[in-house]
Amino acid sequence: MGTNVLKTETPTSIDDAVYFLKENFNEGDHRPAISFGFGDPSCFECFRTTPIAEDAIVEAVRSAKFNSYAPTGGILPARRAVADYLSRDLPYRLSPDDVYLTLGCNQAAEITIKVLARPGANILLPRPGYPDVETYAIFNNLEIRQFDLLPERGWEVDLDAVEAISDENTIAMVIINPGNPSGSVYTYNHLNKIAETARKLGILVIADEVYGHLVYGSSPFVPMSLFATIVPVITLGSVSKRWMIPGWGLGWLVTCDPSGLLRKDEIAESINKLLVYSPFPPTLIQGSIPQILEKTTQDFFSKTINILRKNLDICYDKLKEIPCIMIPQKPEGAFFAMVKLNLLLLEDIEDDMEFCLKLAKEESLIILPGVTVGLKNWLRVTFAVEYSSLEDGLGRLKSFCQRHAKKYSLTGSTAADQQIHVEH
Ligand SMILES: *Cc1c(COP(=O)(O)O)cnc(C)c1O
Repeated sequence: MGTNVLKTETPTSIDDAVYFLKENFNEGDHRPAISFGFGDPSCFECFRTTPIAEDAIVEAVRSAKFNSYAPTGGILPARRAVADYLSRDLPYRLSPDDVYLTLGCNQAAEITIKVLARPGANILLPRPGYPDVETYAIFNNLEIRQFDLLPERGWEVDLDAVEAISDENTIAMVIINPGNPSGSVYTYNHLNKIAETARKLGILVIADEVYGHLVYGSSPFVPMSLFATIVPVITLGSVSKRWMIPGWGLGWLVTCDPSGLLRKDEIAESINKLLVYSPFPPTLIQGSIPQILEKTTQDFFSKTINILRKNLDICYDKLKEIPCIMIPQKPEGAFFAMVKLNLLLLEDIEDDMEFCLKLAKEESLIILPGVTVGLKNWLRVTFAVEYSSLEDGLGRLKSFCQRHAKKYSLTGSTAADQQIHVEH
């Protein structure tokens, strides 16, 4: 495929980019293909979910109690289980009425956007961010305004930018914590400031916490709903990431508003109206949720966290050794590291897309170009893969970068630099 084709067909969604890169594998390469493209560790044996979850499904089947249609929003025991699970980290209790069960966290985001969209309104989204939310906003004619996350400040929200881009038609801001693609984990203080800013602007905070509790550094996971007395929060989550079962399609949308700042009946009515006409998680899966959330032991969580932490350490150390790659911040959570390419050090690569395309062709390795998550000339690397693939893939990345590095002369300047000197 020629470069011209690439330029006109540059894919922008994560899925499109990964499939596009896959099509460019070199069939003559007999090494196994490796993908650091998606964040889905569930296909690796070391990340198999807990037997508690597997047994919960089997029991739900055998009980014959979950063969009927579920009521809109989910069956009560499942909603109660989610409310209790999230309330463990809060000084107040969520009620089952605050919880709506959805087909994964993605549907929770979609429903939230649909409920909030109205003519003329806008929503504030982080850059870099998670492109699906953007797509839902576009489909629902909700204007998108982006604020930057600041790599040099641990990918914190640029709150001045949030204030600058918001106006009386702004309805909400979105945060993703722990961060995809940034791998950041926000401190209590930063979340508190986000809440204060949103309150001042009179907007809601939508908190995508699908990576909740998946943290490896010194910062603990703090849920945004802890600040819901300051500003109403809509929490989005699922069992997909912490339990490594994204294929089960069970997520939630939770309205966190202990001070009663929201008109909850209105919100409940519009969410229910949308959910009536939407697909919903199978009753069987809903039936397994109380067991999964209540019975999963700390052993399982510790095991996955330990594997991920070890992977992260290796990933961070190896990436640091590569001159054309800059990591502003060691990730502290989720599945990803966001790194910047120094294109000046590369000979024949114009941008992140070309980097990833050549990497797929030459090394059968997929890495996500940053442009798909809003930052051109960055890369998103997942470390949530099996250890041997991680080591192998990082080795391939290193040799690729060495092969494409600009060649320096003995004086330390490049051939191009010397030409410039001659012209002077
Ligand atoms: C994976 C992911 C989702 C989707 O979660 P599902 O439960 O699989 O729908 C949503 N938001 C972010 C930031 C994610 O990384």
